[in-house]
Amino acid sequence: MPPPPEPIPVGLLGATGMVGQRFVHALASHPWFRLDWLAASERSAGRSYGEATHWLGEGEMPSQAAGIRVEAARPSSDCPRLVFSALDAKVAGRVERSFARAGHVVLSNARNHRMEPDVPLLVPEINSGHLRLVREQRRRRGWTGAIVTNPNCSTIGLALALAPLRPLGIRRVVATTLQALSGAGHPGVAALDIVGNVVPAIAGEENKIATETLKILGACRDGGIEPFDAVVSAHCNRVPVVDGHLACVSVDLEDPSPERARELLANFSGPPQELDLPSAPARPVRVTSVDDRPQPRLDSGAESGMAVTVGRLRPCTVLGLKFVALVHNTIRGAAGASVLNAELMWTRALL
Ligand code: NAP
Repeated sequence: MPPPPEPIPVGLLGATGMVGQRFVHALASHPWFRLDWLAASERSAGRSYGEATHWLGEGEMPSQAAGIRVEAARPSSDCPRLVFSALDAKVAGRVERSFARAGHVVLSNARNHRMEPDVPLLVPEINSGHLRLVREQRRRRGWTGAIVTNPNCSTIGLALALAPLRPLGIRRVVATTLQALSGAGHPGVAALDIVGNVVPAIAGEENKIATETLKILGACRDGGIEPFDAVVSAHCNRVPVVDGHLACVSVDLEDPSPERARELLANFSGPPQELDLPSAPARPVRVTSVDDRPQPRLDSGAESGMAVTVGRLRPCTVLGLKFVALVHNTIRGAAGASVLNAELMWTRALL
């Protein structure tokens, strides 16, 4: 499928938040999409985006977004068919459903719909075949729109590091995350709780990593997803880092050779690379041999934040193989992932 003949208008729910701002940044210069419509809570509705938003993004707020009026998060005839969502999970379930029912294709970052059997939890390099669920979802729910989700911001880093290792026979995985502050949105964690400290709990996160990973790596069968046959256990910690979630991972493999793992990780690619999609990293997994990398400050921006960096591949005396994986949580872990999903869906005539 060639690129769209002219930019596709898009809407954005939750535009004023941490992830919403990443979307605004990514869409300001996107060759296929044009940001036309923005929405947030009633607190922001009616004001210009520039007035309503405490801008935390890189550089200046894009001028084309600053003047757009923020709408309430309700379907309307002015809202384009394609809608990205960076809504707070407290409201995302209900609001995203109302948009899909009204005929919008919603690409969601929230947790609410990810594990529903007819909703793709899409990582284009790993499971583009799961997009078959869109037709099933429309058939079952009688919608002309759809909901497609991307994973939790730690899960996607783990899934992209595990997918290439499937030929080695993955049986069990233990992942300990060190997660950045931007993962908690804005204003997020109170400064007095986190400065000079580590908080060893993130509500709901460990279960999301365990279940979402197996859905992502699973097979699309009989109108649903059969989860990947392995077990995943996670420990999640909040650390005083701005961007970039790190995971220290041990994996029980039938063949735990670090050399084979390195080769599979470094050569991994999928449809976004074959199709040369605008947001696709040249390599979705970047392998480093430097002893003390990856580090959030040095590596989370790899390939414009779209590549996962894996390092410290070595034997694990308990499970067989261990490594460290790093993902940029608001780019590959959120807005960048959704935009890549939309690019792939355009090539499959699903928008
Ligand atoms: P955030 O900074 O708290 O932003 C939340 C957004 O939701 C704001 O635009 C807010 O608008 C809007 N909102 C809140 N209540 C609303 C309501 N009642 N009606 C309509 N809009 C409402 O959160 P975030 O970190 O950007 O996260 C957004 C979503 O992405 C969440 O579901 C989160 O779990 C998910 N996610 C986040 C990350 C990350 O790294 N941060 C990664 C992956 C997924 P106002 O400004 O008007 O209040």
